[in-house]
Amino acid sequence: MLDEEYRPFFREDHRLFRDQVRSFLEREIEPHHEQWERDGVVSRDAWLKAGAAGILCSSVTEEHEGPGGDYLHNAVVIEEMAYVGVSGPGFWIHSEMVVPYIETFGTAEQKSRWLPQLVSGEAIGAVGMSEPGAGSDLRGITTSAVRVPEGWRIRGQKVFISNGQLADLVVLAAKTSPKERSSRSLSLFLVDTSLPGFRRGKNLDKLGYHAQDTSELFFDDLIVPEDALLGNEGDGFSQLIHGLARERISIAVSCQAKAEYAFRQTLAYVKERKLFGRGLGEFQNTRFRLADLRTEIAVGRAYVDQMLVRYIEGGLDAETAALAKLWTTEMLGRVVDACLQLHGGWGYMREFPIARAYADARVERIAGGSSEVLREIIGRAVVGGER
Ligand SMILES: Cc1cc2nc3c(=O)[nH]c(=O)nc-3n(C[C@H](O)[C@H](O)[C@H](O)COP(=O)(O)OP(=O)(O)OC[C@H]3O[C@@H](n4cnc5c(N)ncnc54)[C@H](O)[C@@H]3O)c2cc1C
Repeated sequence: MLDEEYRPFFREDHRLFRDQVRSFLEREIEPHHEQWERDGVVSRDAWLKAGAAGILCSSVTEEHEGPGGDYLHNAVVIEEMAYVGVSGPGFWIHSEMVVPYIETFGTAEQKSRWLPQLVSGEAIGAVGMSEPGAGSDLRGITTSAVRVPEGWRIRGQKVFISNGQLADLVVLAAKTSPKERSSRSLSLFLVDTSLPGFRRGKNLDKLGYHAQDTSELFFDDLIVPEDALLGNEGDGFSQLIHGLARERISIAVSCQAKAEYAFRQTLAYVKERKLFGRGLGEFQNTRFRLADLRTEIAVGRAYVDQMLVRYIEGGLDAETAALAKLWTTEMLGRVVDACLQLHGGWGYMREFPIARAYADARVERIAGGSSEVLREIIGRAVVGGER
């Protein structure tokens, strides 16, 4: 980490937690990551160990068998994973996307049923929004949920779902007014993947994030009980707007830490590499590039930390979360590109951490709201107008 000393909002308990997370990652995650990259998925055992170590769902209260921490504990997990370059375990999707939907909109029964299992890692969560024909355009979702005497009948398909091969629970976006595109046409459901009618498609072959499972999911007339509905019928869009703001802040936290990781890897490399009888770091071009990157990362750190403080104080709106995601993901793209360049051909080899960091970083400008979608959100907030 750079500039650690300038982060006074982290309390002593956060610092102790950071040490625990770091040693957990060194012990239980890093040694297995290459194997998981080959497997295309992280082992369930790692999830259970993360649960036992208190790494999952930091903000869940003790009432639901959680660690009773706050958002900054979650941020610590996100940062520490980035600082060791492990992108396989989809812990943040589980802790930062799935859990907040249940905490914010779930009934007492839904919370008691799902939160303890998510905390322990016995249940793994995923969020199912995107479809082959609807990613940015969520109003175009065609997965439907129709009322039947037993509850809801769900029919449709999702794609690109992180944790999709492992998921025991999917927070699913489905049209409850299938023919409409209005803001009241969508609802969210807590779908138990052990129910008949749920089917996993293939684990998709990606450019990066090789250890993370990303899947197609199919819902073939799957019947969920009435109480699988999250919140009220028709609340789906407003729930997603709420959830996406948190997702975007978490992506910003992650991308800032990933840029710092890429920089550190590159600094170590240029200090070692010799060419033309000199060290790579002795070339003025290298020093100037690193000076620019160092500056950009330091500015990013100040910005992300300000966002973190605003978020924990409760003052972060959807537009500001969009700004944070847009800037940090674009910054990460610039940083990993320049860092890879400084590695020369070795930077293109997957055995070097910068090659993986480069491939992993590319998706950050696409998933969770692409840069174009975010510019639309920010632009509308600035100038006004409908999308
Ligand atoms: C590795 C990975 C993990 C993912 N994990 C999940 C997950 O867990 N759950 C989930 O639901 N989804 C997930 N996604 C899906 C992701 O959120 C979508 O890929 C993303 O929202 C973009 O949708 P799309 O791929 O359909 O692209 P499209 O929406 O078809 O976009 C195509 C292009 O059009 C641009 N565009 C879109 N809207 C506008 C506009 N208004 N103006 C101008 N240009 C525009 C886009 O920026 C893009 O460049 C994941 C994707 C990947 C790659």
